[in-house]
Amino acid sequence: MVADVLDGKAFAAKLRAMVTKEVTRLKDAHGMTPGLAVVLVGDDPASQVYVRNKRKQTVEAGMHSVEHRLDSTISEEALLALVGSLNKDPAIHGILVQLPLPSHIDEALVINAIAPEKDVDGFHVSNVGRIATGQAAMVPCTPLGCLLLLRDRLGDLSGLNAVVLGRSNIVGKPMAQLLLRDSCTVTIAHSRTRDISGVCRRADIVVAAVGRAEMIGADWIKPGATVIDVGINRIEKPGGGTGLVGDVAFAEVSQVAGAITPVPGGVGPMTIACLLANTLTACCRISGFRAPATLSV
Ligand code: NDP
Repeated sequence: MVADVLDGKAFAAKLRAMVTKEVTRLKDAHGMTPGLAVVLVGDDPASQVYVRNKRKQTVEAGMHSVEHRLDSTISEEALLALVGSLNKDPAIHGILVQLPLPSHIDEALVINAIAPEKDVDGFHVSNVGRIATGQAAMVPCTPLGCLLLLRDRLGDLSGLNAVVLGRSNIVGKPMAQLLLRDSCTVTIAHSRTRDISGVCRRADIVVAAVGRAEMIGADWIKPGATVIDVGINRIEKPGGGTGLVGDVAFAEVSQVAGAITPVPGGVGPMTIACLLANTLTACCRISGFRAPATLSV
């Protein structure tokens, strides 16, 4: 079997087009423009690239975009004050504080200071609880992107065996909650899991989010399974230079799986598209308009 490659880039482009259309409709019908504020502390090069891409795509979708670049020495108090002012700003519907933050700042304190309805990253403890209890929530962008890809490929996920590899707060745990909400039978595997390849081999759906280059081989995968690779790992290439690979050994797993996301071009592009979708959803909910059902959970 040779797996179908799930084109996250193309799917994300469709998603962004839907968001852009809805943004135009909101503007025309209600004079409302969704606004996203991104807060970047320090000069981490990877974070700078992410923030630049987020801004570009936010503007392209017709949204209002605000960026706050702060020195790495900023105090926790000053950062909390900025978040407080963004919470009150009626032109801002989504607030994203780019992680990681410098070690002198308590990340959880800052994230939980964001108004939950503006928490477009879905990391606020209130949104975590709302997802776990089946209530309307802001959903973390990467797991939301994975879920949309899975629904697009498989339709109804009900009754399928899903294994999530990784239990982080930003990917593994919310992913498992979303799959459970869609009535999958969910197993979360991690570094202490016994016979992890055997656990994985029982899955109809595998979501890999461990951050270990090409750890998941063909013998971990049930023939025909759908494999979503969240991992982004930079490796030395044999001929020199570096390249990006996922947590899944793509070449061999694609001989066994039914469908697989590539790295790059799979989950990555979905993450920013889902950030735009979340900003639109937040704007609709805050303003009392119906949020498009296909873009939210
Ligand atoms: P974390 O490091 O926070 O979590 C990794 C998880 O993988 C942990 O739960 C850990 O287990 C588990 N793990 C690590 N090694 C093994 C192993 N050998 N066997 C089994 N489980 C293992 O990572 P994130 O969740 O933040 O990210 C995971 C990957 O996804 C990274 O490559 C990251 O770059 C990528 N990523 C991609 C995004 C995108 O947009 N495409 C967005 C976010 C992340 P334990 O808890 O027991 O330590």
